[in-house]
Amino acid sequence: MKGEILKNYVNGKWVESESEKTRDVINPAIGELLAKTPMSTSREVNQAIEAAKEAFWKWRTTPAQSRIRYLFDFRDALEENFEELAEITTLEHGKIIDESIGEYRRTIENVEVATSIPSLQLGYNFEDVASGIDEMVIKQPLGVFFCVAPFNFPAMVPSWFWPYAIATGNTYIVKPSDQCPLTMVKQFELLDEIGLPKGVINLVHGGAEAVNTLIESPDTIGMSFVGSTKVGKLLYKKCGEAGKRVQVQGGAKNFITVMPDANLERTVPNLITSFLGNTGQRCLAGGVLLAVGDIYESLKDAILESAKKIKVGDGLDESVHLGPLASEAGMKNVLRIIETGIDEGAELILDGRNVEVEDKLSKGFFIGPTIFDKVTPEMTIAKDEIFGPVIPIIQVKNLNNAIDIIHANPYGNASSIFTSDGKTAREYQYNVRAGNIGINVGVAAPIATFPFSGMKDSFKGDLHGQGKNAVDFFTEEKVVITRWF
Ligand code: NAD
Repeated sequence: MKGEILKNYVNGKWVESESEKTRDVINPAIGELLAKTPMSTSREVNQAIEAAKEAFWKWRTTPAQSRIRYLFDFRDALEENFEELAEITTLEHGKIIDESIGEYRRTIENVEVATSIPSLQLGYNFEDVASGIDEMVIKQPLGVFFCVAPFNFPAMVPSWFWPYAIATGNTYIVKPSDQCPLTMVKQFELLDEIGLPKGVINLVHGGAEAVNTLIESPDTIGMSFVGSTKVGKLLYKKCGEAGKRVQVQGGAKNFITVMPDANLERTVPNLITSFLGNTGQRCLAGGVLLAVGDIYESLKDAILESAKKIKVGDGLDESVHLGPLASEAGMKNVLRIIETGIDEGAELILDGRNVEVEDKLSKGFFIGPTIFDKVTPEMTIAKDEIFGPVIPIIQVKNLNNAIDIIHANPYGNASSIFTSDGKTAREYQYNVRAGNIGINVGVAAPIATFPFSGMKDSFKGDLHGQGKNAVDFFTEEKVVITRWF
């Protein structure tokens, strides 16, 4: 039903929110209302916390082998409903269907990795630490955890956390993006069908009030946040004050360096995907193109030529390469940043404003590929996260100049280099302070067994999402020292 107010999923049941405040969920390709997200009240959030707390001990004492049966079933449900799931994500987010499919492949991968918890959660021991005394470490779950998720990967980002949290024996609350909540609603319908014990996993919609309640509750253990650095830093501080475990994956400005010896033919398609994929709304998106030495002219021409060929339109249309921005506010923000680029003196060599789309998409939030030349490191478009299909190009003399520009930026999420020289690549990987490094790879997205890293203002905390990092985040190491008389 179009425009319905979404329900929360608490203690194994779908419940209507008592809140009168809602946010519209819009299909960004056509500007049409899909649903309304309720801004859940503190009282409602506390009910979810209570349910998760109540469920914890029984779940924690359920053998891991039994706990992961549910994840195997959920994985099967994701595969069986794959097409519908991907379509829902494209409908509410706008990304092209291939990108939703890619997002769901990584989501499933995370569920699969979490099913190996009996191996991942192993402790360790050592005998005869003193005569007749043995010592061991056991990794135990702690209680109720929650995540606060962004709009840009509404399926994948929560999967960096919750499958590991419940597999290790914790209970969980997902607070999805209020802008793109339908993706997790569909996943919770599937979770409901597989019959997890009530309270083990809960879904609460909302905004700041819901999140603050989750942080301030004495009954929650920790938060995984993914979103903008501004909100992330605020919540990191609040979590510190409340004594919570916390991991904050924030915003980004990813520099992509192209060396004079790069293989241009193979590099350009990678750059196009890096800067324009997901309509630039990726935390791993290329943010600035650093063209080193004499590759600058040919690289600029090749990028321009490729970007001009990109078809913009509704992500559900399989012939389309670039979908809309996910929201009107997001589109307006990118338009504002493009204006700033012009005002600050960069040269707009491809203008994506007023891009032509089919008539039926006239109310959609479209911006076509946009390229700025003659960009300097001080310009706003070279420093701030744009989160749209914009490619700022800076010409630099050599690798050291490129690394200096990268290090002057406060973010450190990802960075890539394109080169044919192993020594140059090694120098880059060795020196550049960014959490995810690509070598001839434009989107350095780690598979689920590796941490989704990040540094500087792109990450606050110690342990990242995915794989072994997630297992450590959701468990506590207890040391047992044993002597038998
Ligand atoms: P956002 O910060 O606006 O929102 C993220 C979440 O925080 C949402 O669930 C939102 O409801 C909640 N929130 C917003 N304001 C709040 C407040 N004042 N108090 C409490 N909660 C609040 O981010 P977004 O626009 O949804 O996502 C885009 C950002 O996420 C980009 O900066 C992108 O780089 C970043 N991101 C980072 C990673 C990563 O791994 N580093 C991955 C994906 C996205």
